Amino acid sequence: MNAASNSFDTLIIGAGVGGSSAAKSALSCDDTQRVLLVNEEEWEPYDRPPLSKDVLLGDSDTGDFQLIDETLRAHPRLVIKSGIHAAHLDPHARTVQLSDGSVCAYRSLIIATGSKARTLDPAIVDAGVEADLLYLKTLGDALSLRRRLADAVGSRLVVIGAGFIGLEVAAAARRLGCNVSVVEAGSRIVSRGAPALVAQFLRARHDREGVRFELGAQAERISRTGPGLEIRIEDGRRIHGDLVVAGIGTTANDSLAAAAGLECDNGILVDEFCRTSEPSIYAIGDVARIRSANLAPALRMEHWQAARVMGETAARNACGAEEPYQEVPWVWTDQYDLNLQFLGHTSDRSRCVIRGDVAAGKWTLFEKDGDALVAATLVNSGRDRRTIERLIARRTEVKDDDLSDPAFDLKALLR
Ligand SMILES: Cc1cc2nc3c(=O)[nH]c(=O)nc-3n(C[C@H](O)[C@H](O)[C@H](O)COP(=O)(O)OP(=O)(O)OC[C@H]3O[C@@H](n4cnc5c(N)ncnc54)[C@H](O)[C@@H]3O)c2cc1C
Repeated sequence: MNAASNSFDTLIIGAGVGGSSAAKSALSCDDTQRVLLVNEEEWEPYDRPPLSKDVLLGDSDTGDFQLIDETLRAHPRLVIKSGIHAAHLDPHARTVQLSDGSVCAYRSLIIATGSKARTLDPAIVDAGVEADLLYLKTLGDALSLRRRLADAVGSRLVVIGAGFIGLEVAAAARRLGCNVSVVEAGSRIVSRGAPALVAQFLRARHDREGVRFELGAQAERISRTGPGLEIRIEDGRRIHGDLVVAGIGTTANDSLAAAAGLECDNGILVDEFCRTSEPSIYAIGDVARIRSANLAPALRMEHWQAARVMGETAARNACGAEEPYQEVPWVWTDQYDLNLQFLGHTSDRSRCVIRGDVAAGKWTLFEKDGDALVAATLVNSGRDRRTIERLIARRTEVKDDDLSDPAFDLKALLR
């Protein structure tokens, strides 16, 4: 394609971890690829996991988690447009119109527009509450929350939603000296992301740190009472706070794709090659809902590793490869001094085997389907991750006694 024109071999919309890793992969496909990365945010492309951890605690600066280093930024075949969004997509003409009015042509398009924080139903939020009701998705959100928490020592934070992000915020706020309550509609914490035993363990840790939990608590109204806020629960409970952070999930940024006629249903539907209903268009990461043989029904993966690997896979496929995305899901969370890593598709229906010392806080919960290993949660045991990932990928059959024996060499099962 003509280097001086607005034509690109691979055009990538969205510069989160998915879009940024797709750009790196596309550039290394061959020596001629011209790549455009459209980044709507005002900051250079950055990583999100530190936002609810190091950034809140003030342990890192924005430069610490950039996704595109100086060498890549200066790459002669990469154009990064920041502070500009893709406004319109025409799949038939193979063009994307940007918010600066320019129209760019592509041979392959990768949509990596991610997700946005799900917001509370406006019908339950009284006017005048918004200034003290925060969400956490972008670097801007994290910097505002950090300022508010740092100023709020001794004050009351209410977190709505006991998923990973809500609990990471709760842990950081306790470290910063806030009084923290967590309000959760479900009957337990991390009901979507962690097996029940792990959730109990994590809950006990938050209890010890002084976090108060209100479970089975569906917020019915949030209003201002004097200087603070009141969260009224459907069953009559009332929880008071000075600041509320809602971590209640995400919604896919799929409107651009939907308006262009791509098949969407709570995310852009893609096949196992990350290809959408338009063969020249791929979708990856949080915005993509992948249909594949080992995932029924189709899923939005919504985690860092999936976005990164889908980005690489889509970029190679856009260059002519035919590689399926078939990773074992890997998600982690850091709370206090706990590092929890989740491998595979965890389910309360699986049979569980424990290895290690739960009381000492260093253990692994294996999940089995029959004798086959299908998922695992590693609590402060990240060293074993790669081995266990490979065992899960192969659905390795292991006896319970071997799994639970810390002296048993798991690596031996790979030989
Ligand atoms: C606070 C926080 C902490 C997290 N911690 C963890 C963790 O510990 N472990 C883990 O596994 N996962 C974690 N995640 C999840 C993980 O970060 C996401 O799954 C991952 O960022 C998804 O990457 P993505 O590239 O698909 O989308 P995103 O990171 O959402 O990036 C999409 C980008 O596209 C941009 N965009 C949208 N529309 C347009 C448009 N029309 N034109 C141009 N650009 C557009 C968006 O502004 C955004 O910059 C965390 C997420 C958050 C928010």
